[in-house]
Parts: sequence; C-alpha cells; structure tokens
Amino acid sequence: MQVISKNTMKVFLFFVPVAFLMVLFGNKSTDVESYAVRITEQKLRENVSVLASDSLEGRETGKRGQRMAAAYIRSHFERIGLTGPADNGFFQTVNLYQSEQGETYVKVGGRTFAHAEQVVYYGKADSGGEVTLPLVYAGLGRDEDFNTLKVDGKAVLIRIEDGRTYNLPEVAKARQHGAKMVLIWNTDTESAFNSLARQAREYVSRERPSLQKPHISAPNEGSFVVSPALVETLTGMAPNKLKALSRQDPAGRPLNKLKPVTISYKTTMGIKTIETENVLGYLEGTELKDEVIVISAHYDHIGISPSGSGDRINNGADDDASGTAAVMQLASAFADARRDGRGPKRSILFMTFTGEEKGLLGSAYYADNPVFPMENTVINLNIDMIGRRDPHHKDTKPYVYVIGTGEEESSLNKFSEDVNDRFCKLEFDYTYNDREHPSRLFYRSDHWNFAKNGVPVIFYFDGIHEDYHKPSDEVDKIEFDLLARRSQCIFYTAWEAANREERITIE
Ligand SMILES: [Zn+2]
Repeated sequence: MQVISKNTMKVFLFFVPVAFLMVLFGNKSTDVESYAVRITEQKLRENVSVLASDSLEGRETGKRGQRMAAAYIRSHFERIGLTGPADNGFFQTVNLYQSEQGETYVKVGGRTFAHAEQVVYYGKADSGGEVTLPLVYAGLGRDEDFNTLKVDGKAVLIRIEDGRTYNLPEVAKARQHGAKMVLIWNTDTESAFNSLARQAREYVSRERPSLQKPHISAPNEGSFVVSPALVETLTGMAPNKLKALSRQDPAGRPLNKLKPVTISYKTTMGIKTIETENVLGYLEGTELKDEVIVISAHYDHIGISPSGSGDRINNGADDDASGTAAVMQLASAFADARRDGRGPKRSILFMTFTGEEKGLLGSAYYADNPVFPMENTVINLNIDMIGRRDPHHKDTKPYVYVIGTGEEESSLNKFSEDVNDRFCKLEFDYTYNDREHPSRLFYRSDHWNFAKNGVPVIFYFDGIHEDYHKPSDEVDKIEFDLLARRSQCIFYTAWEAANREERITIE
C-alpha cells in the first residue's frame, strides 16, 4: 500500500469534494437521466386514470368533463411551481361559437308544424318573428311553371321528383321570381321524410363549434322541406292528384286551378357561445428567457356517443390522456430540475389544448393569440396518443411515430435522432413523416398550428388502433411502460432543445 504524504493528503482533501461535486453537477448526461427517471409508469398511470375516468365523461370541449380536466391540469401546474402566463392565469380563455336554432315552424289552417318534426328547415336565417304569406304551388319549379304563376312576394311550394334536398336550381329559380320563402316536397313516404327529420334533430348535437361567429342569413333565406301529409294540408289536394297536375302541359295553366292558401312561418336562429380554455404552465429559463420551447398535448376528447348500447363514454385514455399525462410529468421533471438549480436555459411552456377534436381549435386560437411570440418559439414538441401500439407494431421493440422532422438530413431530424441514439433508443418510425402521406397526419394535430407559422415541430404518435375514437379507448389498454419510455424520450429531446447552445432550426 502506498503511503500518503502530508502534501498528497492536502491535495486529496481538496480534490475529492471537487470531484464529488463534478459528479453531481458537472456531468450533464447523468443529470438529465436522473430527472428523466422521475417520469414513472406509476405517476403517468395516476394522471391517465383521472383524465380518462368515466366521471370526466369523455372531456368534450365546452362540457363539464372538459372543465374538470382543465382544473385538474391547472392544479398540477400550480402545485409544482409553474406560473400561469395567460389572460386568466393558467387558463387561456377560448370562446367558440355555434349557431343555435330556436323556435322554427310552419303554420297552416291554425295548426303548427314544428321544425325537425313535420317540417325540416334548411338555412341559417332568423325571420324576426312570424311571417304570413300567400302560398303558391309551382309544380316542378321549371321556367314554364313560373311563367304561368305570380310568385313575387309569396311563399312557393315545389315538387322535387328525385328526392334532392340541397342546392336546388328550382329553389334558386323561385327566388329569382321573387318568392320570399320556398317549401320543398321531395318525398312520397312519411318514413323517408321522418329520416330527414331525424337527421335534423341529430345535426344539432353534431354541429361543430367554430372560432368565428356563424353567419346568420337575411330573414327570408333557407327553405322548408315538408312531409307528404303536410302537402295535402297545404294544397287541399291528395299528393297523387297533385303530381299528375304537375306533369300536365304548363300551357293549359293546370296549377292555376288550385285554391289559394295562406301560411305563416317563423325561423329563429341565435348564436351560442361556448367558453373553454387552453391550460398553460410556464417555466422561465435561466439564460435565454425569451426563447420558448412548447411542449403540448390536447386534453379534450369526443365526449359521450349520442347513441349506441352499453358503454357510451369515450374515455380517450390514449387520445389524448396519454399525451396530457406526459406533458404533466415532463413539467414535474423540469420543475424538479429547476428546484435543484438545474433549470433549463431556455423557457418552457407546457400547454394542453382544448378543442382539438373539434378541428384543432384550441391550438388555432393560441397561434392567433400567442402568449409568447411565434418567432421566439424555438420548437413545438406535440404529443397526441403515445400509450399504445398499433397493429403494425404488435411485437416490435419499443417504437414511436415521429412526424414533422422533414428530410433525413435536416438539422431537426439529426437533432432528434441524436437524442434518440444517446438516450431513448426507441425505434423511430417515419412512415407518416412525409407531409404528403395519404393519412395527412402532419396536418391532423395541434403542432400544425405551429408548423404553419414556421416553428419547427416534432409530433409523437403511436398509430391508429382499433379503439381509436371509441368508448373502448380505456385506461386498462394503455401500456404504461411504453408510455413512460416515450415520455422520457420526449423529455430528453426537450432538455436538449432547451439547453443546447444553438437554437434549433428546421433546415
Ligand atoms: Zn388526439
């Protein structure tokens, strides 16, 4: 054994603590790994289980479950010490609009026929109260029919023999001749009409909200489709006789024989405002504060299916509770690092979007109203479904689809590959990376609203599986080990993007 001299001892006592400190703080890769491993299966499971529980009712935008999810994410961001940078703290308020049909009917002979029951109104007009007009039957709505009738300022009933409902030139013709309202008789059976009425009732629940207020048309626009039974009430003649009359030579003015009737109608159209919110948690950088990394996922889903037997709650465990949980746990890992004095050089915005399933609305709103300027947004790492395997990867090694990095030789792709080689060791599948791939995934999640503004994006995705947008997208089908591996990989990528010397470019 070597004897340690007094001098050597001094040197030893000096260097040992320094070497120890270097191990603790000097070696960056050890550092990042010690934070990555805090993104555990167990924590992710806890978040996914809350977000995808039945009590959140499928998190449909504007509904109670969505608001519960928002509150849950906000309280997490708040608890781990992030700040709320938006207009409403952690919430960026997003108002969505939807047209809302109110009382709409046709009245004749003292009886009322309601929209989506005995008549179906197609249009977006508000008549501003009840309108009363004489009604003229214009047969097949041809020029020769209108030439024998006076329809100016009146309501017109038209027979459409082939069942068409939309974009009818016959209706346009009636309008050209001055008709104020058009009624369409296009079915011969009550059951065919009833299916139209049913579609109209279902349409109310399916109509997509929008960031723009819908247009309410001029008072008399639109048209009513009427049931065959109502045709008889309106004209006082059996439908079969009426059809025969319509086919007679217009020169004999057969339609002028009908008794004049008066009808009343009302169409009511309002605009409903749906208040919803993106949830934002901000972690300020230590050096390059103005440069922001955005890590995102959408927390909304498609809600409760309107029909079907059995379970109708679309839990959206994979889509996208998995991504939301990843964002929450990445935020925790970065917040821990900052507490240890190892916070990222650049700032990070952890953002979960509303309205994705309604057409990327939350991210579109953010892109139009960014809290941090788009030109200072270094990269968007977007996560939408990372908790499962698709049929192409049932037995492969851990993989993830990577979308948005461009050509193999692009600096963004090299950066992402380099992180994978050093830390994640996942199989990166580039099947959907091509912007022109037929499934067009590059345009189908929230990163698109960053990419269209020139921000480099990487989108992480596990593929389309059999439970996509179904009540069976449940927590027990999530592979939490895989979710943790992928989440850690995105964490490494974010860490590198936030701490590297040069800002990332797409080229
Ligand atoms: Zn999704």
